[in-house]
Amino acid sequence: MDAYSALCARLRREPKHWLVTGCAGFIGSNLLETLLLLDQDVTGLDNFSTGHRRNLDQVLAAVGTQRWGHFRLLEADLRSPDECHGACADVDFILHQAALGSVPRSLADPVATNDHNVCGFLNLLTAARDANVRRVVYASSSSVYGDQPTLPKIEQSTGHPLSPYAASKAANELYAAAFAHAYGLQCIGLRYFNVFGPRQDPEGPYAAVIPRWVRALIRDETIRIHGDGSASRDFCYVANAVQANLLAATAPDEAANHVYNIAVGERTTLTQLLNAIRSLLTAHYPHAATPTVEYTVPRPGDIPHSCADVSKAAAMLGYVPTHRLSDGLRTALDWYVDNLDGHE
Ligand code: NAD
Repeated sequence: MDAYSALCARLRREPKHWLVTGCAGFIGSNLLETLLLLDQDVTGLDNFSTGHRRNLDQVLAAVGTQRWGHFRLLEADLRSPDECHGACADVDFILHQAALGSVPRSLADPVATNDHNVCGFLNLLTAARDANVRRVVYASSSSVYGDQPTLPKIEQSTGHPLSPYAASKAANELYAAAFAHAYGLQCIGLRYFNVFGPRQDPEGPYAAVIPRWVRALIRDETIRIHGDGSASRDFCYVANAVQANLLAATAPDEAANHVYNIAVGERTTLTQLLNAIRSLLTAHYPHAATPTVEYTVPRPGDIPHSCADVSKAAAMLGYVPTHRLSDGLRTALDWYVDNLDGHE
């Protein structure tokens, strides 16, 4: 049996109490769904700034009312130290996802990004320390590689951050290391690379590329590509990120107080991504075969290429990504059709 299947079986036998911050967001709601399906007790914290109640409704529909009874929702804000302390009582593991995402958002409002992502994280670490939480697994980001040009990215070689968002994630890693050293709090940072899947928000100016393009293709709207389409990313289906979180929380002590790349280890250009989404959608939406594409200038703060070396997570956590880009797109197709069709 692989490490993740063995872990899931163990958790079913010996349920734990998890705190998922950002539980109404994209990755947080997917973590919540998996944990409840594994019969875990979950406290979820969210201030609904970018998350949605409809995401929690979808989790309820997926897990059923009996398992939903093991979930406690705190509508709370990480920027409040008291609310963080309230959330950490009797918690075994924290999976920290709450943050303001998006490089462009951080360029528009760096102070808000710092308040949520850095001050909020510091409040959470302090509360976790005081509550003797066993381990904090937190969402870092591939953006910490900044201007480091080497591919694939390896954990020990980071560059200068290119945006306030990247700086906030780098600051998270520094605070986690400081809390591990000063207070003995076990922390693991997961550097996610372009995660995608069900419940990723297609709305607004800061939406990620995959839900934005899927929706535009479904609705026969213009596709906007920043640059000439040659920029590349390591697209990671959300099930891989969920697996990494659960493995990181429960891995042996030697794995703690490290950061890990979480992705697939494959590079896809934006042009290849568009072609993959087009061919997936064409059976449902024939007009998706011939989209109108507009090329615009690259966005400030974006890096041209990104691809992860995931061998450290494989060796130390037992992480084996189950979904490549095409698998993830195929798995998410029904959700995209059910949720991104129509003009609400
Ligand atoms: P998301 O916006 O869907 O979810 C974030 C959630 O956090 C939202 O529900 C929001 O309401 C909540 N939140 C924000 N600030 C809060 C605060 N101060 N107090 C309480 N709740 C708050 O984002 P996501 O895509 O699910 O990302 C989750 C984490 O992963 C973030 O830390 C993000 O920076 C990181 N990350 C995501 C990706 C990706 O591709 N999605 C890539 C790298 C890193």
